[in-house]
Amino acid sequence: MNLKKYIKKISIVALFALTVSPSFGQDLLARQAPVDRRMRALDTLALRSIEIKENRENPAAQLYEDFNNQYAHRATSLPSHYRIDLRHFCMPTPSRVVTSNFGARWGRQHKGLDIKVYIGDTIRAAFDGKVRVVRYEGRGYGKYIVIRHNNGLETIYGHLSKQLVSENEEVRSGDVIGLGGNTGRSTGSHLHFETRLCGVALNPALFFDFRNQDVTGDFYNFDLATYERDSAEATRVRGKIGNGGYTRDMIYGEVGQSANRGSSTSGELLYHKVKPGETLTSIAKKRGVSVEQIVRLSNLGKNPQIHVGQILRYS
Ligand SMILES: [Zn+2]
Repeated sequence: MNLKKYIKKISIVALFALTVSPSFGQDLLARQAPVDRRMRALDTLALRSIEIKENRENPAAQLYEDFNNQYAHRATSLPSHYRIDLRHFCMPTPSRVVTSNFGARWGRQHKGLDIKVYIGDTIRAAFDGKVRVVRYEGRGYGKYIVIRHNNGLETIYGHLSKQLVSENEEVRSGDVIGLGGNTGRSTGSHLHFETRLCGVALNPALFFDFRNQDVTGDFYNFDLATYERDSAEATRVRGKIGNGGYTRDMIYGEVGQSANRGSSTSGELLYHKVKPGETLTSIAKKRGVSVEQIVRLSNLGKNPQIHVGQILRYS
């Protein structure tokens, strides 16, 4: 039974309960409130248990048409807005070492983060969900696992030495799903970790901070317009300054060396990450540009305020 049907049914039951109540009609107003409250409590509980059951059978059913094991990832249409619940997460590995970021790499797109792990290291499910794909791809992911989570995200764990779950198996956040390895196209043991929404690879650094072993917040609000704007900008930046460039994708991850180059002379987009103690004036001086230029290019508005870690465009 799906949620909509259930709501309809519970309303009919509630109406019936009201109708047969012997005191109905005597003091309608006095009795209405507690009945409403009780109904709401009952609704919330019952709906929650239905939701849990539905998620168990088909995680994030509102985003995905089916639970298909045939393909590892196939981009479908992204929602215009979607709130991703990051609470109850588990870091897939306690390793804090990111060896490769999301984004352009050697002329191709790296669709995940590479985290240093050793062969045999424990790899855990990032959230509750259901294992969708367990497969081997010799020239790519190696032994890999795709999990669809109740929060709508799908996570991919690649180059494993051992897969410890099977397709359609339910997992809880933190369950051991495999062991770290060096299978597939990989030089040196590491975990290739992807986060996808509707098949589209999003930078895992938007959700996970491996260095601090934490999520970026309780929720992540996905916004399609922002995503499209950032992707277009990343493509434009890559097109202009090649792989050494500082892309929007990388901004969300580690700050690369290329961000620390001098002022642009060729119309390149250049960025500065705010460090403790810095002011707009000190940044402008360091970068050899005016404060006004940073304010304008970074859209800081009439009352500019900056904070540590903020990414400013200065050229
Ligand atoms: Zn990788």
